[in-house]
Amino acid sequence: MGERISVVDYLVLEDGDPYVVANACSGCGATYFERRNACARCFGASFERRRMASTGTVRSYTIVYRAAPEVHVPFVSAIVELDGGGVLKANIRDVEPVPEAIRLGMPVVLTTFVAGTDDDGTEAVAFGYSPARTAREAGPEGVASGARAPVAQEQGNDG
Ligand SMILES: [Zn+2]
Repeated sequence: MGERISVVDYLVLEDGDPYVVANACSGCGATYFERRNACARCFGASFERRRMASTGTVRSYTIVYRAAPEVHVPFVSAIVELDGGGVLKANIRDVEPVPEAIRLGMPVVLTTFVAGTDDDGTEAVAFGYSPARTAREAGPEGVASGARAPVAQEQGNDG
C-alpha cells in the first residue's frame, strides 16, 4: 500500500472526507486557492486557511477538445462557485462532455480520483466535481416540479 498525496496543496485528504482549503484574506475575507502574497482586493498580506464547502454550482464551463497528448479529451473544464463562497476552476467529471449534459447553475459535489501512481505505489490524488443530481434525486425532498410523470411504465407480467 502506498501513500496518497494531493496534486494541489489546497486539496486536503488526510482528514476524513476530502475537502479544499482556501487562503482567506484577514482584511476583507476574499478567498484564494493559489498562494498569494497580497490580497488583490484590499492589498492585505495576512491570510488564514479556511475549509471550503464541497458543494457548489457551475458558473461557466468549456468543453475541451484539445490538450496535451496524455490528457484524455474531450473533458469539461468549469468555473465552480462553492456554496458559502469561493470560486475555483476544476473539471466536471461523471458527465458526458456534451453541452446537453451540463447547464449553468448545475449543482455539483467534490469528487477525488487517482490521477497517477508512481513506482513506489504513491497515488497522486486530484479532484473535480460531479453533478449532484443523483444525490438530490435520491433524497426525500428531491422530487422536483411535477413535469415528470411518475414511473408507471413497468410492462408488468406479460409472460
Ligand atoms: Zn483582502
